[in-house]
Amino acid sequence: MKAKSIRLEVSKDRIISDLRRIGVKEGDHVAVALSLKSIGYVKGGPEAFIDALLEAVGPNGTIMMNTHTRSWIVSDIASDYIFDYRSTSTWTGLVPETFRKRRNSIRSKHPRFSVTVIGKLAKILTEGHDENSSFYMPFSKLAKVDGKYLSIGIGNRLVAIRHEAQHLAGLFDVVPMFLGVKYRDNEGKVKIYIANRPPCTIKFPDLVPVLRKKGVVKTGRIGMAYSILAPAKDLIDVMAEMLRKKPTLNLCANMGCLWCREAERRMNLHGNIENPQCFQKSILMIKTIALINRFRLKKFSFVSFRSRKGKFARRKESRESFLLREILEIPRLLYLMVWEIYH
Ligand SMILES: [Zn+2]
Repeated sequence: MKAKSIRLEVSKDRIISDLRRIGVKEGDHVAVALSLKSIGYVKGGPEAFIDALLEAVGPNGTIMMNTHTRSWIVSDIASDYIFDYRSTSTWTGLVPETFRKRRNSIRSKHPRFSVTVIGKLAKILTEGHDENSSFYMPFSKLAKVDGKYLSIGIGNRLVAIRHEAQHLAGLFDVVPMFLGVKYRDNEGKVKIYIANRPPCTIKFPDLVPVLRKKGVVKTGRIGMAYSILAPAKDLIDVMAEMLRKKPTLNLCANMGCLWCREAERRMNLHGNIENPQCFQKSILMIKTIALINRFRLKKFSFVSFRSRKGKFARRKESRESFLLREILEIPRLLYLMVWEIYH
């Protein structure tokens, strides 16, 4: 017999009391990242959940959510997708999208990593976050006003705020992997935004037990969801310090991870890795991966545009022709490797 999963029915009042228990107080400024369905069955849906957050911090507090949008590798930018902070939907979930549509919300203008804020500091937190600012500027501002970071039901991933720590630790521009998107500026003109991709984040959950030991993060439950609350400043500072002292903490163990394998090569970290994988020990493997990755990085070095119609046609490609295309790549790769060895 199949076991039935039991979903707890969670009311708005229950959410408010759970928020209090984990440490959210009136007048707090809180960045929230979440998965609604992990809380249980929330009576009243996203709207009731947003009301609960706003009531918990009260009129002197602030709630901020990520309303990030799409981007593509620079050699494959969609020609018919134009980001407009006034209207483009977010892919970060139904709650942030509902939050963005609230009448009293303010959204920042960053073409990829916009945030939406409601409450006392909405204007301050969003101001200046645009195509010319750093990706995660609202989080550093949140740290300055003693704000808090709350994640609900998304494990130990520390979504978004982790990148501000990587930025401060100097990891952002190590590997050139550029992404781009078209956007509409203040005057309505269409422009192209190009910036480096944030570093790999696979290893971040491993930092949470350390952060808990240091007393930086507090864990608890909102409804059924495992949740984390931390002062934004402490969280960013401690993570950045850990990564600055030991950049190898950022490296995942996936041989195919372009960012991690290139970062360890460019920062000369191979000798410092605790418990290295076989591909991090063997000189032959290190050289081979470096050659392949050099080839893989080429698609980040030229800008080109593609219509989404073209994308659709490509997805419909048959399995045979896909395999043939992949096989034909092999001689090209071998040629590149031979060329590398003799030059
Ligand atoms: Zn990685």
